[in-house]
Amino acid sequence: ATVFLNDTFLPAEQAKVSVYDRGFLFGDGVYEVIPVYGRQPFRLKAHLSRLQSSLDGIHLTNPFDDERWTQLITQLIEQNDSDNQAVYLQVTRGVAPREHVFPEGVKPTVFMMSNPLNSVPESYKEQGIKAITVDDIRWQRCDIKAITLLPNTMLRQQAHEKGAGEAILIRDGVMTEGSASNSYAVFDGVIYTAAKDNTVLPGITRDFVLELAAKANIPYKEESVTADRLTQADEIWISSSTRELLAVTTLDDKPVGHGIPGPLWQKLDALYQRDKLEANQ
Ligand code: PMP
Repeated sequence: ATVFLNDTFLPAEQAKVSVYDRGFLFGDGVYEVIPVYGRQPFRLKAHLSRLQSSLDGIHLTNPFDDERWTQLITQLIEQNDSDNQAVYLQVTRGVAPREHVFPEGVKPTVFMMSNPLNSVPESYKEQGIKAITVDDIRWQRCDIKAITLLPNTMLRQQAHEKGAGEAILIRDGVMTEGSASNSYAVFDGVIYTAAKDNTVLPGITRDFVLELAAKANIPYKEESVTADRLTQADEIWISSSTRELLAVTTLDDKPVGHGIPGPLWQKLDALYQRDKLEANQ
């Protein structure tokens, strides 16, 4: 596969990063994952705007303007085979002697790759997925899409070891989001998802789902749901760029609602599939 490193496209095997890269030594960087449908990036502007917020959050200057990013991402998509792809990009604070204080005058390291975007397995869509609830052990700036994902990987692994596809995170008694997704609960026809603050990542698919809900006149509230109340939810969902919108039908080994993907999920997933190809703005 062809990847992009710093200023060139090259075969993945030839792309090498220094052991002094601050991404490697400190996890000092941010990233984005952009789904590509039919060779068109989904909501590229929104992803680039979130990238800017993440970079601002860690006080790192954006190495490129949006026009340049768009050119590079377009070229990366062209150089990879699949019609549907997942573009991964990351920017780290660059290569410098290991010292916590930010180095001055160092060029950020930019890395991009694109993998085939596998469609979500039918069985996940038909049956929904299992999830477990776990204590949200992450930091206080979950709004930054930082490459430092050790807590997320540990929590997701914990879910995996219990045969579950996602970990739903509980902080101060309320649901924040999934280990790699935003999360939603439905009560009496109303969708609840955490408000955008420092405890959650502002998901691009979250915005899309809420827009679809608004268009379909399904009410939603950006309000947190307690762990207690979550056990009584009619429906629970997760959303992310690579998994789109999935129903959680088993939570902590108990069925959610009737234990099958619920009617509001059915409706929103249908709209999601219908509109995702045209939703590039
Ligand atoms: N929250 C977390 C912690 C995530 O890792 C992700 C996906 N990377 C999301 C939410 C969903 O974000 P998006 O819809 O932009 O993929």
